[in-house]
Amino acid sequence: MLRARRERVAQNGDNGQLERAVHKQEQTVIIGAGLIGLATAHALLERGERVRVLETLMQVGGGTSYANGGLLTPSMAEPWNAPGAWRHFAASMTDAAAPMKLRGLALPGLVRWGFRFLCHSTPARYRSATQASFRLARESVRLTRSWRERLNLSYDGRASGCLSLFRTGSSMHEQLATSRQLQALGLRFTRLDSAGVVAIEPMLADIARDIDGAIYFPDDEIGDAHALCHALGRSIISRGGQISTNVHASRISLREGRVWGVETDGEHLPAARVIVAAGVGSVQLLQDAGVRISVAPAKGYSLTVDFGGHSALPALPVSDRIRHVVATPLGQRMRIAGTAEFAGWDLSMRPERISPLAAAFRELYPRLARKVDPAQGLAWAGLRPVSADGLPFIGPTRVEGLYVNAGHGALGFTLAAGSAVLLADLLKGAPTALNPAPYSALR
Ligand SMILES: Cc1cc2nc3c(=O)[nH]c(=O)nc-3n(C[C@H](O)[C@H](O)[C@H](O)COP(=O)(O)OP(=O)(O)OC[C@H]3O[C@@H](n4cnc5c(N)ncnc54)[C@H](O)[C@@H]3O)c2cc1C
Repeated sequence: MLRARRERVAQNGDNGQLERAVHKQEQTVIIGAGLIGLATAHALLERGERVRVLETLMQVGGGTSYANGGLLTPSMAEPWNAPGAWRHFAASMTDAAAPMKLRGLALPGLVRWGFRFLCHSTPARYRSATQASFRLARESVRLTRSWRERLNLSYDGRASGCLSLFRTGSSMHEQLATSRQLQALGLRFTRLDSAGVVAIEPMLADIARDIDGAIYFPDDEIGDAHALCHALGRSIISRGGQISTNVHASRISLREGRVWGVETDGEHLPAARVIVAAGVGSVQLLQDAGVRISVAPAKGYSLTVDFGGHSALPALPVSDRIRHVVATPLGQRMRIAGTAEFAGWDLSMRPERISPLAAAFRELYPRLARKVDPAQGLAWAGLRPVSADGLPFIGPTRVEGLYVNAGHGALGFTLAAGSAVLLADLLKGAPTALNPAPYSALR
């Protein structure tokens, strides 16, 4: 049909019309092959769209989705800008070990974002963002589970539940209050004392005396994000989607105010629609196309300790509220992740930020730490794309044909499937399962 149209138009000598006709038949190009870009590609393929994913790295899932905490936790849906959070940031400037740290050198680049971050930390805005984040997270975990089962995705993913652990010196007051608020929206949880914790996770028996209590969230899940990226990548290719690694999208090209394609290092790729899902790289790509999103990079670290099948590992992931880290079993490995450092785009690994992860693991599982020293684990750092109001940007932009799916902060694994389906439905003009307004890219 396209060839016939091409010939007809060519006979009439109308090149503009020809270009528009060819363009119409073109595919959707997605920039970024992390959790968000790949989930988006999958959701669009399921809706009959032709997709091509561009990734600057040599492999998929090599950015922030590489070695994250491995948790899918609607239970932790709250954004970082809780009322009064600014006090922690201010204090962190002189405390090298603060779990959330603001570095002076990063300040000039954070003025605009920081102002918005503070504006959104009023109790009312924080509560409404927490609820919107929870709604998307809950739907997203449901979708992830259904993709895992239907597509047989292998990524050490399972419905494990999660323990939020309060050791002596930490208070569960705040998290209980948030959990009670989200209960009305469907969050399930149980409050446990020390004996209750050991009953569901016997590997914490060694530190029972140090445990004040915990909140158990039965609907949270775990999995290896990098392995999920590869599993999704294989599924995308098997359904006829294209993934081009080692291809850098340098610019989104526009014509007559709408998307025309993507400039890569040496090529122009025509595209009817472009979706920017490039994690922290999204800000610049969009800005060059005249679209602003308020997202800043927040560095986090993880340590992955491989027990090689020689030890029984905990069944449950634990979020330790004293050290602000998570410890997640992933097959035969334990992943310990956490800390947030606003240090611009710097990805260097600071030993003083990694050693608290090893220390937390020793404190939680002293017996396991004697078998394999956690400090010998594989250290990694990644940049979370943190939006100023704590919610991702999902949907069309002001530029016709240009879409965004970015800014998922500390919850990109949790929110990937839900965000992908929401964007795909918006792009196809289909009814959406959730009200898209709180996540709008036009907000
Ligand atoms: C320490 C740590 C722990 C975390 N733990 C959890 C957790 O337990 N649960 C959870 O839900 N979330 C967690 N997160 C957050 C989660 O990992 C991120 O939100 C998520 O990975 C973001 O995915 P993304 O696809 O947006 O970004 P990325 O994974 O970074 O993917 C974007 C991709 O775009 C590519 N790209 C960028 N620019 C271009 C360009 N111009 N051309 C081509 N390609 C480009 C990049 O190379 C990259 O591969 C954690 C993050 C960190 C750092």
